[in-house]
Amino acid sequence: MAAKQHVVVVGSGIVGSSIAWHLTRDGAAVTVIAEDIGGVATPNSFAWINASWGNPEFYFRFRHRSIAEWKRLAQELPGLPLSWCGGICWDLPADQLEAFAVEHSLWGYGIERLDRAAIAAREPYLEQIPDTALLVAEEGAVEPVAAARLLLADAEARGAKFVNAAVDGFIRSGERIAGVVTSAGLVEADHVVLAAGAGSAPLAATVGVTLPLEAPPGLIVHSRPFERRLNGLVMATDLHMRQTADGRVIAGSDFGGTDPGLDQHATAARLFAKVTESMTDGERLTMDFFTVGYRPTPKDGFPIIGDCGQDGLYVVVTHSGVTLAPLIGLLASSEILAGNADPSLAAFRLSRFN
Ligand SMILES: Cc1cc2nc3c(=O)[nH]c(=O)nc-3n(C[C@H](O)[C@H](O)[C@H](O)COP(=O)(O)OP(=O)(O)OC[C@H]3O[C@@H](n4cnc5c(N)ncnc54)[C@H](O)[C@@H]3O)c2cc1C
Repeated sequence: MAAKQHVVVVGSGIVGSSIAWHLTRDGAAVTVIAEDIGGVATPNSFAWINASWGNPEFYFRFRHRSIAEWKRLAQELPGLPLSWCGGICWDLPADQLEAFAVEHSLWGYGIERLDRAAIAAREPYLEQIPDTALLVAEEGAVEPVAAARLLLADAEARGAKFVNAAVDGFIRSGERIAGVVTSAGLVEADHVVLAAGAGSAPLAATVGVTLPLEAPPGLIVHSRPFERRLNGLVMATDLHMRQTADGRVIAGSDFGGTDPGLDQHATAARLFAKVTESMTDGERLTMDFFTVGYRPTPKDGFPIIGDCGQDGLYVVVTHSGVTLAPLIGLLASSEILAGNADPSLAAFRLSRFN
């Protein structure tokens, strides 16, 4: 029997955890190395699983496929905190909303048009009901840190190792990257996966690889747990909201979070006031805390996945990592271990920036 390939995954956010889980399932000996369990951007995410408006068809298809992969992953790993609650949206001018509905319906997105009565029936606590909205029943959300932790725990139960350490650089063997240098010592590997979110760029730079990334901030407010007020995701104009598994209403001015500005506390207070005004009885909701996260975002907005010009080093950095984690985990594992390059990955190579 061939020896197991040893893969080091740097990063334990939703992306690194999914890659580590898929690699372990597919027979690799995996070591996950990260400074935390559950990620940096991941705990601050709105965590909407979607293939909604604003993307070209190839990227829509990738995201749509990943929604199906979440459902597959939930079968393989029971207990993932997913909610297929559906989302209603009216966060575009009417003509653009209709154009989105027509185009994405043709692409196979399950869109239904709702009138005022149907919106009110679905979300009875909303104070400001628009004349029309679109419902996408196949959208959902996941509690992202709990999901990342479950993926890691299950990978560990299947033999993966977790090392809580900082990665400072890479080991080279000839032309190949052959492991990582960490605060806990050297770890050799057949392959290294860099899934360190915004931390990927400085690490890649140590071996001369430039990752064109931005990390825009996004502020999300969290209420204290409250009785059920939202049945699904609500994407209103300048206010995206959902209620988490533990009953918190969380919101940003869009799902990527609000620009925190110079005074984060004032921004959070204004945003939370909008949440309370948007709901019947809203004054009974109280803000518990707010988060400011930095979204690891490649400069053209699309994921970077795969070879980076350094043998042995595989890079994955993406915005919408919560939506894309299961598909990226599946495809990256197959490519790293068996050399199978799924055709959809061609659009997401780092070389497109050359
Ligand atoms: C406000 C906000 C809202 C969002 N909303 C959505 C949404 O609705 N839907 C969606 O799909 N996506 C959303 N996103 C994006 C999504 O959350 C991210 O794409 C995703 O969490 C990235 O996960 P990751 O695992 O790549 O990175 P991270 O969660 O950032 O994890 C990075 C990991 O790398 C480790 N690391 C970094 N550097 C080092 C080092 N030198 N040594 C060791 N370890 C290191 C960290 O410790 C951490 O474990 C949102 C993001 C934000 C901030």
